[in-house]
Amino acid sequence: MNLVLLGAPGAGKGTQGNLLVETYGLKKISTGDIFREILKDPSNPLYDDVKVIKEGKLVTDETVNNVVRYAVETSENKNFIFDGYPRTLAQAEALDKILEDNGLKIDNVVELSVTKDVLMYRLLGRRTCRNCKGIFHISLGYEKCPDCGGELYTRDDDNEQTVEARFVEYNTKTFPLIEYYNNKDVNYVKYVVESNDMTPAMINNVIEPKLVK
Ligand code: ADP
Ligand code: ZN
Repeated sequence: MNLVLLGAPGAGKGTQGNLLVETYGLKKISTGDIFREILKDPSNPLYDDVKVIKEGKLVTDETVNNVVRYAVETSENKNFIFDGYPRTLAQAEALDKILEDNGLKIDNVVELSVTKDVLMYRLLGRRTCRNCKGIFHISLGYEKCPDCGGELYTRDDDNEQTVEARFVEYNTKTFPLIEYYNNKDVNYVKYVVESNDMTPAMINNVIEPKLVK
């Protein structure tokens, strides 16, 4: 099964994606995670292409598409969940081609829809585990990652100014993908986050029965 997660920054793609990975044994391809790894090493040939993420701008389609093609073709597990990719129409078209070249296709697209107030609250309070990439809101009060004991940190791009820039990128470049996938022959599952009382596990229980396996 191949699944694409769509949603604004902070919509919960990382968190819900991790639950889907566990249930279906998927290989997760998170372009954001790949780029943050690249930024740890200034000698990486892609470093200059990727450093724009510190300003909330998108990495170029060409670089992202190459990174994803490589990740798909070198993975032994060919059941993928894409988190944070595609983010532009050109990337969506490239993904179709990458999968087709490998005898694969997208089965499910899951859209997480969240109001801007909630997104701001989540992103500005987001703490990320350096080790397992788990995500825990500051209001939970954890000193260390409750899952693995790793250090919790605030991502460079989770600050007010960069968050605004990311919303602009999302609204102009990524939002059109919703229509793209709605007009395509894929199973489209939309989940609207209406209250803060729904835990990730509860949201997962709503989404999972709607997926095409
Ligand atoms: P979020 O969904 O919270 O914005 P991500 O970890 O998915 O976080 O992405 C962090 C940053 O990495 C993005 O703001 C963007 O600059 C860059 N990035 C990630 N995926 C892509 C992509 N598919 N195309 C272009 N840039 C990307
Ligand atoms: Zn952890």
